[in-house]
Amino acid sequence: MIYSKLNADELNLDNLITSNLNQDPGKILIIVPTRRKQRNYKKQVITDRNNKDASRINIETFESTVIRLLKAGSYSYNLLGSSAALVLLKQCINYKELSYFNAYKPEIPFGTLEKILNVITEYKRHGIKPENLRQNLGSAPPGERNKVEDIASIFEKYQEKILSLNYKETGDLYTDFKNITDDELAANFIQLFENVSLIVISGFDEFTTLEIDVINRLSAIVSNNLFISLDLHDNQKIFAHLSACTQCFEANGYYKITDTSVPQKKDFIDIIKNNFFTNRDFIPSRRYKDQITIIESSSRIREVENIAKEIKTILAETNIEPHNICVVFNVISNYSNIVKDIFSQGNIPFNLTDRPYLSTSNIVTSIINFLDVLKNNYYYKNIQKALYGSFLRPKDFNLYNLIECASAVNIISGYASWEAKLKEGFETDIDGKSGYFNKALKDIKELKKHLTPFEGEYTIDEFKIKLIELIYSFKLPEKILSLEKVVVEENSAALTAFIDTVNEVLDLLILESGKDKKFKIDFYLKALTTALSGTRYNIKEKSNYGVLITTLNEIRDLKFDYLFIGGMCDNDLPTKYSNEVFYYREYADGKFKNHQIQERFHFYQTLRAWNYHLYLTYALSDSSILTVSNFVTEFLSLFEVTHLTDADFRQILFSETDLYKNINNPALDFSRLPYTFSKEVFNEKAAIIEKRQTETGEYAGVLTDALSAELKEKLSKIKDREFSITTIEQYARCPFLYFIDNLLKIKVKAEPTDETDNMEFGNIIHKILYLYFSRLNKLNIKLGGLTGENFSKAYSLLFEIAEQTLDESNANLSFFQREKILGINGDKKNSILHKVIEVENEGDGSFAPAYLEASFGWLKEEMNEYSISEPINTNGIKLRGKVDRIDINETNKQFTVIDYKSGKIGGELDKAREGEYFQLPVYVKAAEKIIKEKLNADYSYAEAILFSLKYVEGKFKKEKVKLTEEDILQSFEFIAGHINNIVEGKFNLAPAEKRKDACKYCMHEGVCRKLELK
Ligand code: SF4
Repeated sequence: MIYSKLNADELNLDNLITSNLNQDPGKILIIVPTRRKQRNYKKQVITDRNNKDASRINIETFESTVIRLLKAGSYSYNLLGSSAALVLLKQCINYKELSYFNAYKPEIPFGTLEKILNVITEYKRHGIKPENLRQNLGSAPPGERNKVEDIASIFEKYQEKILSLNYKETGDLYTDFKNITDDELAANFIQLFENVSLIVISGFDEFTTLEIDVINRLSAIVSNNLFISLDLHDNQKIFAHLSACTQCFEANGYYKITDTSVPQKKDFIDIIKNNFFTNRDFIPSRRYKDQITIIESSSRIREVENIAKEIKTILAETNIEPHNICVVFNVISNYSNIVKDIFSQGNIPFNLTDRPYLSTSNIVTSIINFLDVLKNNYYYKNIQKALYGSFLRPKDFNLYNLIECASAVNIISGYASWEAKLKEGFETDIDGKSGYFNKALKDIKELKKHLTPFEGEYTIDEFKIKLIELIYSFKLPEKILSLEKVVVEENSAALTAFIDTVNEVLDLLILESGKDKKFKIDFYLKALTTALSGTRYNIKEKSNYGVLITTLNEIRDLKFDYLFIGGMCDNDLPTKYSNEVFYYREYADGKFKNHQIQERFHFYQTLRAWNYHLYLTYALSDSSILTVSNFVTEFLSLFEVTHLTDADFRQILFSETDLYKNINNPALDFSRLPYTFSKEVFNEKAAIIEKRQTETGEYAGVLTDALSAELKEKLSKIKDREFSITTIEQYARCPFLYFIDNLLKIKVKAEPTDETDNMEFGNIIHKILYLYFSRLNKLNIKLGGLTGENFSKAYSLLFEIAEQTLDESNANLSFFQREKILGINGDKKNSILHKVIEVENEGDGSFAPAYLEASFGWLKEEMNEYSISEPINTNGIKLRGKVDRIDINETNKQFTVIDYKSGKIGGELDKAREGEYFQLPVYVKAAEKIIKEKLNADYSYAEAILFSLKYVEGKFKKEKVKLTEEDILQSFEFIAGHINNIVEGKFNLAPAEKRKDACKYCMHEGVCRKLELK
């Protein structure tokens, strides 16, 4: 349908456009909805005209027309980008003045901030002002009222702010357009489009009232020789949402004219537009059966693989150029990474028009993470994050070595600490590794050299210069150019967009704060991270290159020979309406009403975009089950199609990776491979994989028969060692893990992780309790029913010892960890120590701590007055270890062993009975031995206790583990069995059913091939 103020019954708009373009392209202005359409249309016209008069072709988008017409006159402004907009919007949120958003303080999450910005932008596009929002409140319930009032006040402040800085957004431009006089507009129009006497607006499905106002004024300039083409038909299930704007056109004096242009595939389009979602009795047309295919895939990955295989086949079997093939997704973010991987693997050239956020770009995160190192005072995790695989890694920087050294001397943060401790490591030659420490010291100094310019305070202009110098000092442009071809474009686009965003945001901050004001790095990083999170960048599309991978919206009004519409499942197409919570109710309701119809309409428009073959594809699962879109069901009620599934693509292997994935496919036919491939190499790899999956011998980690005599001899000597209990527990958990850690001694990159912090925390508590109970012993004070002065004395002694220990310790404890020990907010009652005394004093005092941190076996460094040097020796196995505490009852000649735990406890008895837990059983035997040696007396075992020092309500407690003598004896048999297995070379993986627990903290997943095995 066509709308125009010129009256006519019918008009062939295609002919009108073609004849004008052929005669004199300068006479016609065509306004299209997207920049892609603008580019493609221009390209098409230039080609059709054999490159003649290219400069006179007037094809614009709505936005570009308005901007150009405004700019042609005296109108001057700065267009506000989304990144700067977010920074400004954030400044306009004053929690004191807000009620609904007050709950978000101290900082509104980025996602919410972006939503508020989108809502304001949308309101502006529709000419809605803060005062209109307030008027619309009506009888809204209080929650709704608070929300809308808050949005209105944020909107007001935001608008004031941007106008005071002479910035405008697109919505503001449409409002300003209203204010230029007719004469000025006519003059500007002539200046830009001197010869234009005809305007055609085509490809839109929605106009705001502000846009209709622009159309009215343009129509007047060209004496109403303006035609709006609307894809409008009677089927209300697809076209109902257009009625609002057609009514508006009619109210503005436009006539309805029938368009007699004949579209390609008219029959196909007619079936859809007349019957889609309406005609239940329609007999599906057979006409397109060979031209329409539905591909059902088991997962999204498989879906993209199947699409890629189909495309590869099309490219191999036809003369079609890749750029004549298009794959569209409604929610492209569900597919873009999969497409990148799979299309690259299959060497299919592609143009992915996803617009990623700058905050996800590697090069941009490298820069921000690098500066974060300074902001976070050289915290080791920031250093790792900043330099691991980063573009900003100083030459020859050895990150692995730096973190290893940090771990050895326990450096967490602070440049001074890095320098001092690494120097100490170098000078004292810790573990004979002075060379490593020296290198680490050099590296940390080099890092500081790059960050020194950003220390202190500096003006915004100075920051800009420093940042650019940083980029060039690391030769980022050169580094980008040396990358693989597929990512050069992406990274250069991201770096360019980053620099533009930085300039935009910083220029805006200069306008706000002035040129001379100085700020620290924190200020700059805060502004930049807010801006970057909301800024997307475009990867420049290569003309006529590769399969186009894009969204439905982007191909409006375009045509491709082969079109794949992917992601045809519910929530992708159609998407679920996510009620935009920040819209006022009536506005949100209106959007909801139109949502489904608009989705159908976009699908219908997409269905118009193919010439030879159309594919609809969907997956049956993602991380959960997916439901096939009802659009597919409706489509199948109109057309008979060809159906394909995963099975139809199994025989098509399109990359080497694909080949290995199909290694167990019995139907694999080498003769059908589309490229040369070594069958021998393949067979070799296949045989190894097969063996790993089926054998119980060496491929399953059981080396017994495969070992040489020499290695057997070596293994047998292992039995003479003193074993630590944790090592045996490690074997019991996963023999292969023991093999890697203890025999191959493969070390996973060590780092001072939070676990190290926790270890330090646990060690400190152990130390405090050791010193405390030793002192109590010497003072002859027994906890258990203590009251009055005695209790106070015991109580304050614990805190005194703790404070002194903490002050003298080099441990890098956080402020909160220190408070947990001594009292949160200075309140001793809220502390671990208070709870310790509480628990200990609850007893009757019959058992008193007698042996503390008592080691047994060869633990030179750990020995104290309570230790013995002899290991436990049972069944010919020697064991060493340390018992946290042995309490004795001198009257009954009994003892209790206590093991402190700062982590989770539970299930130890079951594990002991399954041969996976040995600590308490061994400690009982060790306690017997220690007491015997120290007191020359036989004490009998009373209880084994786990003392959970976890500072969580209900978890801080002593838990008895009811080990019987039989359990203890059985544990030693288990231990002997494990050691014998080690000697026999049995190093299988943890059994599949145990891996959930066994593998939890294991770092060897990458080498143990557990993922490969069933
Ligand atoms: S990941 Fe699991 S199976 Fe693999 S070595 Fe570690 S513990 Fe064993």
